Amino acid sequence: MKVLVINCGSSSLKYQLIDMENENVLAIGLAERIGIEGARVKHEVPNMDKVVIEKPMEDHKDALKIVLDALVDEKHGAIKDLKEINAVGHRVVHAGEKYSESVVINDDVIKALEECIELAPLHNPPNLIGIKACQELMPGVQMVAVFDTAFHQTMPSSSYIYPLPYELYEKYGIRKYGFHGTSHRYVSARAAEFLGKDINEMKIVTCHLGNGASLAAVKNGKCIDTSMGFTPLEGLAMGTRCGDIDPAIVTFIMEKENLDINGINNIMNKKSGVLGISGVSSDFRDIEEAAEKGNERAKLALDKFNMRVKKYIAAYAAVMGGVDTVVFTAGLGENSSSNRKEICSGLEFMGIKIDDEKNNVRGKDAVVSTDDSKVKVLVVPTNEELMIAKDTVELLK
Ligand code: ADP
Repeated sequence: MKVLVINCGSSSLKYQLIDMENENVLAIGLAERIGIEGARVKHEVPNMDKVVIEKPMEDHKDALKIVLDALVDEKHGAIKDLKEINAVGHRVVHAGEKYSESVVINDDVIKALEECIELAPLHNPPNLIGIKACQELMPGVQMVAVFDTAFHQTMPSSSYIYPLPYELYEKYGIRKYGFHGTSHRYVSARAAEFLGKDINEMKIVTCHLGNGASLAAVKNGKCIDTSMGFTPLEGLAMGTRCGDIDPAIVTFIMEKENLDINGINNIMNKKSGVLGISGVSSDFRDIEEAAEKGNERAKLALDKFNMRVKKYIAAYAAVMGGVDTVVFTAGLGENSSSNRKEICSGLEFMGIKIDDEKNNVRGKDAVVSTDDSKVKVLVVPTNEELMIAKDTVELLK
C-alpha cells in the first residue's frame, strides 16, 4: 500500500510518498511560497538528483497539482500512475475534544474540524484546504486525518483544567490540549520497541525539543500530562516563544509598551524564548556557537532552556510516580549532545546518569545513559510522517 502524507501550512505543503510494504520513502518534498511570488516545489526521489520546480501557484490546489505531476513525471517521478497511491494521510493540528485517535475523513469529520478553527486559527484552515484539494484532485481515494492533539486526550481532568472560572472551560473550551502528539506517540512507542519492553508497563518522559518544544508524561502508553497548553505557547522556553511566564506580565507589558493584542502576541510568540534572551538567534546552533565564544546572554538563554526542561522532567516523574525512560527527539533533542548532558546533569538523584561517550551520537536510535543508570535515556529520531502513514494503513485495513 502506498500512502501520500500531506502536511499543509499557511503557505506551504509538505509531502512524503511512503511504500508501507517496507516503509520506504519513495518521494519527499515541499511546495513553498504558495500564493506569493517565487512559488516553487522542491521534490526529491531517493537516489536521484533533487529538482526544484518553479511555477506560480495561486493556492494549495495548484500546489498539489504540481506535486502530483512531479510524482508521476517521466524523469523525476516516483510512480507511473497516480492510481498507485492507495490513500492519503493528513496531518491536522487541532481536533479539540472531538477526537482522541486518527479518523477516516468524511463530511462529519470536516465539519468537526471547521468547528475547531477558533482553537487553531493559523493551522486548521490550511489543513482543511489541503484535505479539500486532495478530495478534488484525487476523487475516490480514501483519506485519514491524524491530529497533533489526539494523543493528549487521555490526560486526566486535573492535568488539563486551568485554575480559571470553570464556565470559561464550558463556554470556550479553554483547557490544556497539548501539541506534537504524533511525535510523542511515535517516539514513546519506538523507545519501548527499541528497549524490548512493554509500553503498558513503562513510565516515559518524552522531550520533543525543536524550534517548538514540548514534553509529555507517558504512563503505560497513555499521555497523562504535557507542557504545551491551550495553544503551543505554554511550557518550555522555545526558539521564539516564551512558554510559562507570570500571566500578569502580559497586561503589564501591554500597558507599559502601549501594545494591543497583536502586539503582545507578537512579542510572546515571535520575539521571546531563546531568541529573546540571547538577542542572537532562534537557532540553537547559533546560540551554542555564541555561548562558546563567551556571549553571556547566549549562555543565559541556553541555561534557561535547559533548566526548564530539567524541571519538567522532574515534575513528570512526580506526576507518574516515577520514571524509567527519558526520550530526546526533534532537531535539538536528536542532535545536541551538550544540551542533553546539561539537561540531565543534576538529575542523578532520580537515577538519571548520562554516559558521555554514548551521548556523542546524533540522529539515530540510541541509549545514551550509563549501564548502571536506573533510568534509561534514549535518543529517538521522530518520524511523524511514518506515524501518519501507519495510522492511515491501520484505519483503512
Ligand atoms: P521545528 O520542526 O519545530 O521547526 P526542528 O525539530 O527541525 O524544529 O528543530 C530545529 C532546531 O533544532 C533548531 O533550533 C536547530 O538549531 C536545532 N538543531 C538542529 N541540529 C542541531 C545541532 N546539530 N545542534 C544543535 N541544535 C540543532
